[in-house]
Amino acid sequence: MTEKVFYQNPYTKKLMATVTEVREKEGYLWLLTDQTIFYPGGGGQLPDRGKIDGQSVLDVKEKNGKIWHQLEKENAKFQTGQKVVQEIDWSYRYYQMQQHTGQHLLSAVLDRAGWPTVSVHLGEAYTLIEVEGRLLDSAELKDLEKQTQQLISQALPVFIHWVIPDEIKRFPLRRPPKEFDNLRLVEIKGFDYSACGGTHVQNIAEIGLVKILGCEKIRGRARIKALLGARAFQYLEELHQVNFQLREKLKTDHLQFNERVAQLQEELTYLKRLKKFYQPFFVEVKCNQLVKEADGPAVFLKLEQGEQDDAAAIAKKLSNDFKKVAFIQFDRRFFLTSPSARLFDTIKFLKEKAESLELKGGGPQGFCQGIMKQNNLEQIAETIKMMIKQN
Ligand SMILES: [Zn+2]
Repeated sequence: MTEKVFYQNPYTKKLMATVTEVREKEGYLWLLTDQTIFYPGGGGQLPDRGKIDGQSVLDVKEKNGKIWHQLEKENAKFQTGQKVVQEIDWSYRYYQMQQHTGQHLLSAVLDRAGWPTVSVHLGEAYTLIEVEGRLLDSAELKDLEKQTQQLISQALPVFIHWVIPDEIKRFPLRRPPKEFDNLRLVEIKGFDYSACGGTHVQNIAEIGLVKILGCEKIRGRARIKALLGARAFQYLEELHQVNFQLREKLKTDHLQFNERVAQLQEELTYLKRLKKFYQPFFVEVKCNQLVKEADGPAVFLKLEQGEQDDAAAIAKKLSNDFKKVAFIQFDRRFFLTSPSARLFDTIKFLKEKAESLELKGGGPQGFCQGIMKQNNLEQIAETIKMMIKQN
């Protein structure tokens, strides 16, 4: 049996241990030590991460009371009897401890409100608690969060008991197990008793913060999504960053965000309508100007004002109404039109010249569009003029 130091003192971050067995399996090394601070996972909690003698521990598994540490085989030189230094990823573990204890507390609060816990998921990103009963509304969730936070501020200590079957009646367990020999019981002083094999903080004040994000229906039950401990603080920081950026952009504080966005959407709708109305005038003016300045059957333009769809509309009008071949660039997009394949074949042009002119695009005869990889309108214009002449 491996001595489980993570139970004796879950706050041990570093430990000297002795290697008792080394095995190779499927290209990996599995190390057994006399004692360990690596929690092997279980009870919804993820296994610990960390290092043994500076080498990353990839996984931790418990089998028949023995706790095995998985390591890469390369460069690993471990021998039975060797002293090694174990070191766990403490911020990761401490979050697991906060999360696990926070889940016990939240489950106890939910249980008293009539929503007993069926299963839990203690993830890296968030905590999920599946409960028996109907979906909770936002007022109920808010109330439960408040109750949990108030309990945290009471700083109740957390006790661990090892219990044999005869003693079990002394403890009002939330979910009594059916059969056991020696049960590990986690007590939040006088408030909650539950059987659990995970690692926990020694006082619920260490949970710090609880944020319930919402509740959804699953398998005919309700599932609560929450952030606990370090993850809740991280979420707060993320929100703060977004808030900070939006405050600068929207020139108002977060209480006015909704109103400000609604106002901007309204303005945008108005501007879109206005644009739709004015576009034909803009296109008309541009086309007339271009045709007047043109010295042949083809027209070229890099459109600096307007938008992409204006460029498309100008190209179409030049070929439809003015019988011109038109190449209109907007940003790195282009629109190429031709009134007839006899005058200028757009498909043939792309097929033969796209590669050398670094164009990428396609479309039906007379209207094609695409991307210009180079800003080479002049070179394109020369090629098009040449092809028209050769026809
Ligand atoms: Zn637990």
